[in-house]
Amino acid sequence: MASQVVSAGQQPPSLFSESATYRMACEQLRSVAKVMPEYDVGLIDRLMVPKRSLIVSVPVRMDDNSTHVFVGYRVQHSLTSGASKGGLRYARNVDIGEVAALAMWMSWKCGIMGLPFSGAKGGVTVDTAALSLGEKERLTRRFTEEVLSIIGPRIDVMAPDMGTDEQTMAWIYDTYSMKVGYACPEIVTGKPVELGGCVGRREATGRGLVYCIMNALDELNIRADSATAVIQGFGNVASVTADELVKLGTKIVAIGDRYGAIRNMDGIDLPALTNYVNGPENVRRTIVGFKEAEAIPSEELLITPCTVLIPAALERVITEDNASKLKCRILAEGANGPTTPEADTILQASDIYIIPDIIGNAGGVTVSYFEWVQDLQQFMWDEEMVNAKLKKLMLGAFTKVRNKAKERGLTNRTAALSLGIEKIAKEMDKRGLFP
Ligand code: NAD
Repeated sequence: MASQVVSAGQQPPSLFSESATYRMACEQLRSVAKVMPEYDVGLIDRLMVPKRSLIVSVPVRMDDNSTHVFVGYRVQHSLTSGASKGGLRYARNVDIGEVAALAMWMSWKCGIMGLPFSGAKGGVTVDTAALSLGEKERLTRRFTEEVLSIIGPRIDVMAPDMGTDEQTMAWIYDTYSMKVGYACPEIVTGKPVELGGCVGRREATGRGLVYCIMNALDELNIRADSATAVIQGFGNVASVTADELVKLGTKIVAIGDRYGAIRNMDGIDLPALTNYVNGPENVRRTIVGFKEAEAIPSEELLITPCTVLIPAALERVITEDNASKLKCRILAEGANGPTTPEADTILQASDIYIIPDIIGNAGGVTVSYFEWVQDLQQFMWDEEMVNAKLKKLMLGAFTKVRNKAKERGLTNRTAALSLGIEKIAKEMDKRGLFP
């Protein structure tokens, strides 16, 4: 009996597909492929399996002189549209499948925004709360060394993500520069401004999300100063989003982080909360224990009534178990992949206006692109120029998503995914298959 060749695109290796997040990204791609019949199945298969993945062991000398071995990953989903680009995540549960999914989403995001990048992502399985600053630095430098053969300013450029920040990028920049023998700031984005970072990069993801929220509020005839918001997370994306919304007069009524959640239906005093979290010694703490709001169980956070619900921490937090209980008018996805496909089906039957992750949080990679361009040209822009360009690109892309959704009767998510996927599919198709 003749055996049948099964494409890895039809049945991705279990290394990736053991991850629910990777299966979710594949399911999205398959469902969007149905509205793109002009593309060959083989081409969609090529988009399903990451181009290149590296798993590395990262031995680190700990402060007590013991050696701990961490596992790190770098996945380049594609290299079709230019250097690959994506964050580096330090988290307890990160695995190769999750990183592959995040890399795939980065490709679609760069596609929607029209950036000359392909998608990538990296991760190290580690609880950063258990590391000293010195241990985190040694971990970062050794990880950089281990992935050195597949990164480069024209190959793959990292940026901060969950658990990493400007300082992490500074260590990667320094390690890479020591290896190549000259200062190479364009190897990473999201670095400190003093080292060639871009003004406004730290705030870019939250700011970009708020531009989309303002657009959605306008469309629904809701004034920003009469709206309320609930936010999951109080890290980079979440805290900047909260700040920008408060400037518009929106009341933040509940916030959650890794350790718990707080609520004040009269509006949380954000400057006071920020001071509390930063602490007198500038040591970052949890929001838990903030006296001017009541503590609530974490499960209640996402179902707190509000105008805008903003998951800005983890993936797969809106599921079939809680989707029908959401009490928001707009769901603005700051995190990557916060809504499972099952939850998405439930939400489609509601009147919740969704700003999907791949457009909602695209402000970060957009200003990362500005930073990379400035470093390559050795020519710095001012914040006014950065913010004006960010706003123009974000609103242009968001309008394209809305127009496509309206014209073709698609959900915002399918419209956004199809715009991103189409851009890469077209480029792959035109470049042809090597050899
Ligand atoms: P961060 O590390 O600065 O903050 C993460 C936040 O999530 C923290 O407040 C943490 O307490 C909270 N958190 C962790 N576990 C949680 C849990 N179980 N329940 C509730 N909250 C929890 O990370 P970030 O850079 O703000 O990234 C947040 C999300 O946004 C991620 O999905 C990331 O991929 C996405 N994102 C980030 C950027 C960026 O520029 N940083 C860009 C695009 C997308």
